[in-house]
Amino acid sequence: MVDPSAVLRSGLMGLSRNTKVRDVVEKAPVSKDVVKRFVAGTSTEDAVRVSRELDVEGKLATIDFLGEDTLERAQAIHTRDAYLDLLAELADACLTDGGRVEVSVKLSALGQALPKDGRKISLEHARSICEAAAIAGTTVTLDMEDHTTTDATLETLAELRKDFPDTGAVLQAYLRRTEGDCRDLAYEGSRVRLCKGAHAEPASVAFADKGEIDMNYVKCMRVLMEGEGYPMIASHDPRIVEIAGSLATKNLRAPDSFEYQMLYGIRPNEQRRLADAGNQVRVYVPYGDEWYGYLVRRMANDRRTRRSSCVR
Ligand SMILES: Cc1cc2nc3c(=O)[nH]c(=O)nc-3n(C[C@H](O)[C@H](O)[C@H](O)COP(=O)(O)OP(=O)(O)OC[C@H]3O[C@@H](n4cnc5c(N)ncnc54)[C@H](O)[C@@H]3O)c2cc1C
Repeated sequence: MVDPSAVLRSGLMGLSRNTKVRDVVEKAPVSKDVVKRFVAGTSTEDAVRVSRELDVEGKLATIDFLGEDTLERAQAIHTRDAYLDLLAELADACLTDGGRVEVSVKLSALGQALPKDGRKISLEHARSICEAAAIAGTTVTLDMEDHTTTDATLETLAELRKDFPDTGAVLQAYLRRTEGDCRDLAYEGSRVRLCKGAHAEPASVAFADKGEIDMNYVKCMRVLMEGEGYPMIASHDPRIVEIAGSLATKNLRAPDSFEYQMLYGIRPNEQRRLADAGNQVRVYVPYGDEWYGYLVRRMANDRRTRRSSCVR
């Protein structure tokens, strides 16, 4: 049977690539409020302002400069420079020490897919960002993209960790390989964000069924929580959050030995509740001119959008 919410979501995903619709949406006055809910804004100042607000609320942050599918070297350099500028501004605002505000980067935005020397170029750019983050007293996490980039991203991670051991990894529970990757990365000092995964993947490499993905998430989380590393539990799922808490207690983990992560604008009350209970909560904050695709993807996965597609 056709799942109407899946149809709606795929329709919305199609919209994210439609430039005519994008032009209309960007100019509509109502867009501003919707954008503000999920995106810090377009400028570095916006990212710093939201980081400060979260800091005052007792939350940690990781900032993402929006921009994917970089197919030109100049664009990759622009993205690198945006991060260097951001880190300098965050440090000036005294927000980076102790890793309170860190940055998340996509290697594709730093040039990983460039036809000539893409992997080398993205590694060099990521290294520059790690250097700037270290000077600012904070860390970098490498976002994970579709499965064709998993090996390359983990290899880049290993390279970066030689000089910057606190560089964060991201693993996706929908991939069949991930439990093994969790075992490999559950060593002392290793920061690992576990998420479900956000890309359309073939059945040969990924679970498609929600129940199977959730089950694998719990298996992977168990490996990370029992291990020596620093798990970063990135999910809005109430069951996952609850099981994470139980696993932390069972493994005698202190509140500062792991963290919860959620996206900016999603389940803010739950973020507050977790932080008030003494947990570390890090909010993933996107900003930049390229907000349109991100916003449409958020709406495609938003609970309100899902509800509106219910058939009784
Ligand atoms: C901090 C962070 C970083 C991420 N980084 C990456 C990355 O690098 N690579 C990648 O592929 N993916 C990344 N993701 C996305 C992730 O893979 C999932 O696609 C996304 O988080 C949705 O999965 P979920 O676990 O939140 O819950 P889902 O399985 O989508 O939903 C489960 C339940 O959670 C609750 N819920 C979910 N969304 C909402 C909402 N909008 N409002 C209210 N309740 C909601 C509902 O109760 C829902 O039934 C990241 C996610 C987060 C939070």
